[in-house]
Amino acid sequence: MSGAWTRKGSIPGVGATLPAPVKAGVTWTRSAWWLVRSRGRPDRSGIRILFYHRVSDDHDPLAVSPRRFKEQMELLAREGYEVVDLAGAVDLFEREVAPPDVVALNFDDGFRDVGENALPVLEHLGFKATVFLPTGAIDGTARFAWYEEQPPLLSWEEVVELDGAGTLRFEAHTVTHPNLLLLDDESARYEIVESKRGLEERLGRTVDAFCYPAGLFGERERKFVAEAGYRVAVTCEPGVNMPGGDLLALCRRQIDPRDRRLDFRAKVGGGHDTPLPLRGVYRRLRYGEGSKPQPAATILTPGR
Ligand SMILES: [Zn+2]
Repeated sequence: MSGAWTRKGSIPGVGATLPAPVKAGVTWTRSAWWLVRSRGRPDRSGIRILFYHRVSDDHDPLAVSPRRFKEQMELLAREGYEVVDLAGAVDLFEREVAPPDVVALNFDDGFRDVGENALPVLEHLGFKATVFLPTGAIDGTARFAWYEEQPPLLSWEEVVELDGAGTLRFEAHTVTHPNLLLLDDESARYEIVESKRGLEERLGRTVDAFCYPAGLFGERERKFVAEAGYRVAVTCEPGVNMPGGDLLALCRRQIDPRDRRLDFRAKVGGGHDTPLPLRGVYRRLRYGEGSKPQPAATILTPGR
């Protein structure tokens, strides 16, 4: 069995979080409050980016079940959303438009079950998605520290073939998936530059999107990402992205395995655009002073 965890209740891949049952309870409360406030009418302004890691029945706090994933995607289709990858979202931003009814999809870390279980659903519905790869993990020279037994990842052969097929587009996520905030300048720059170079060599095209591991970044990391020539970078800070926002610090919202239908609707509809209370404090204590919250300009606080 894959998906064994070294530390139960935390999600190192996406940074500090609450124990899963507590988080699910808090999420549900916020979703219910959204339902009351909005009467179930989604806020369709801007572009929300939803991110997943795995689509699998494994017992893993990063795995959404294939059944639930399919239901979520079918809900987006039914409600008339256009589902794009990050490149598609950035094209819209660069044209200074954020049409209503657009959602962007991301998968982090390159797990094989995304190809097996998510891809057929996306293909069937005509959706696109971005997959962020740590190149060393795909090489087999680095591994994710939070797994005792790491679930299978896509191979380079599969990555190249899938990237050419058009539904999934692969982008950079460092080489070894470190906490960039803890690295010296040279190592941090290497992780950012080398993942772009390595991926471009494999894919034979320009790679211009980057994902900060666990969403951990500060001014220094943002600067290195800009210097490396990326057009766009994503964080794990929640919020809606609007034209004119910071393209090197886009907001995303994670879909969790325990998210129910209402939670998913609320996340898509703007009910979870702000961080959990005390999240910033917790992350700063755990990851150090550089772990700063999102620049306020790209977050729209929903009305009370
Ligand atoms: Zn990651």
